[in-house]
Amino acid sequence: MADDSEETLVKYSKDASIFEIRPRLVLYPLDSDDVVNLVEWVSKSKEKYPDLSITARCAGTDMSGGAIGESIILDFTRYMNKMVTFDGDRITVEPGMLYRDFEKLTLAKGLILPCYTASKSMNAMGGMFGNNSAGEKTLKYGKAEDYVLESKVVFADAVERTVKPFPVSEISSAQEIYKKVYDLIKGNEEEIKNAKPNVHKNSAGYYIWNIIKNNIFDLNKLLVGSQGTLGIATQITFKLVPVAKSSKLAVIFMRDLEPLGRLVGEILAEKPEALEAYDDKTLWLAIKFFREFLKNKGFFGMVKFFWSFLPEFKMMLRGGFPKLVLLVEFAGEDGEELNCKCEKLIERIKNFQVEVYITKDRNETSKYWDIRRESFNLLRKHIKGKRTAPFIDDIIVRPEFLPKFLPELNRILGEYKLIYTIAGHAGDGNFHIIPLMDFSRPGVPRVINELSEKVYDLVLRYHGSITAEHNDGLVRTPYLKKMFGERIVSVFAEVKRIFDPKNIFNPGKKVPVENGPGTKDYISSHLALEHHARHGV
Ligand SMILES: Cc1cc2nc3c(=O)[nH]c(=O)nc-3n(C[C@H](O)[C@H](O)[C@H](O)COP(=O)(O)OP(=O)(O)OC[C@H]3O[C@@H](n4cnc5c(N)ncnc54)[C@H](O)[C@@H]3O)c2cc1C
Repeated sequence: MADDSEETLVKYSKDASIFEIRPRLVLYPLDSDDVVNLVEWVSKSKEKYPDLSITARCAGTDMSGGAIGESIILDFTRYMNKMVTFDGDRITVEPGMLYRDFEKLTLAKGLILPCYTASKSMNAMGGMFGNNSAGEKTLKYGKAEDYVLESKVVFADAVERTVKPFPVSEISSAQEIYKKVYDLIKGNEEEIKNAKPNVHKNSAGYYIWNIIKNNIFDLNKLLVGSQGTLGIATQITFKLVPVAKSSKLAVIFMRDLEPLGRLVGEILAEKPEALEAYDDKTLWLAIKFFREFLKNKGFFGMVKFFWSFLPEFKMMLRGGFPKLVLLVEFAGEDGEELNCKCEKLIERIKNFQVEVYITKDRNETSKYWDIRRESFNLLRKHIKGKRTAPFIDDIIVRPEFLPKFLPELNRILGEYKLIYTIAGHAGDGNFHIIPLMDFSRPGVPRVINELSEKVYDLVLRYHGSITAEHNDGLVRTPYLKKMFGERIVSVFAEVKRIFDPKNIFNPGKKVPVENGPGTKDYISSHLALEHHARHGV
């Protein structure tokens, strides 16, 4: 099905990023044959119509501009959203299945995909594949790349291939595209090894590091997180893990951020399942706007909700609002064991000037998780006159660098009179900084450019990555050279040429197009001037 109505083109010109780009047409494939036929036609017609391209899209919650493009948008959520098979701990789905529907199926069998995101109420499985998504459980369980067992992908030659791991010894009898990737990696082995970001998780660049591992060749490791620039996934098989029987949440309120780095180190020593954070501004927003979530809970539900903020109010009375809230979750089979872990944690951090609150029940626990997961959405929907500007939204450094890194980051942010919130995955050293900006003011592109340069320079001085999970898209592709250097960026360009020589798949993401998408000028000239939550996801 095809749609080029004004309303549809306006809707699809946005994702959750700072950009607005109007496509020419939106298509809704019914099955993989539709995808194959489209790729064949675009490939054949590219010479005649050089601007033709395909941007795969699922729920459009991408924060990097990865799900928008100037030509054809291929939306999988309308029809290609079904489960294909569910066998033990393996589940195969079409890319357009929403995570929230997927989770219902897996939880019914006591299983979960542990790399679920904070956007799990909105996003879809193809987007998790496309972005190599991660979330609160990544600290213990890893990212999407660790859970994709197999995929079906339509390549640029309009052939749908089943991509699965095989022994490296079989490479000589593999298809041409596999051999070319193998040769490229072998030809740059040392440089690739040296360029691997030394962080807990990375979404920047093509993941050339993990394709060959333990004598296994797995192209999924490259396709996951490639933002639909190398091929289009039509089916994905995920591995699931059992859901832990019980969990316990310790909430740590910090009035002073200075000891954060050391504190994170101490907490990690207790091996929590998750270690997340949100700042005072996020907490205020939650208290102010969370009524929305409780609309259907009635008067007593509201009272109960405000009552649940008692720990925070008490803290305020004792001497101020917390600057940062840390959520430390322990999970396991035995409730008693979890209580012990919480006690050990309290003992371990007793010399820090923090308050610790252990949640009493599931309701209280989910309040804290809701605030953490909804932090970005609260901002996007509620701030008048300004809009959320995710452009330095996903930096990561190893946690041991945090004590030095964070004060320097604060100093840079302090140079600009910005309001911003910070939330994120403190255990991984991954912070989401979301400034609020009035995009109608003339200086905005300059600030975005300057801050990106300064913050990324700092991140790279601490051997970090410019994106841990939100990926490169339009907003970070211009900075890949800064992060990886000329040689590795040319390897990325070669990867793109091997898979997509005519540049028909999502151009300008991961590899820039000269004077086009993926350049700094393109960022400045394609900012969405209106508040996007009205039209976007
Ligand atoms: C409030 C909020 C919170 C978020 N929290 C997190 C978080 O905790 N962790 C995290 O990792 N991300 C987070 N994100 C970013 C985003 O939600 C995730 O990356 C998500 O998994 C994207 O899913 P989607 O279905 O919206 O994909 P889309 O935005 O539609 O697409 C994402 C990318 O995948 C590509 N793609 C889509 N379908 C296919 C396909 N069939 N084949 C190949 N490529 C494809 C697209 O081209 C695009 O580049 C958050 C976003 C928001 C708005």
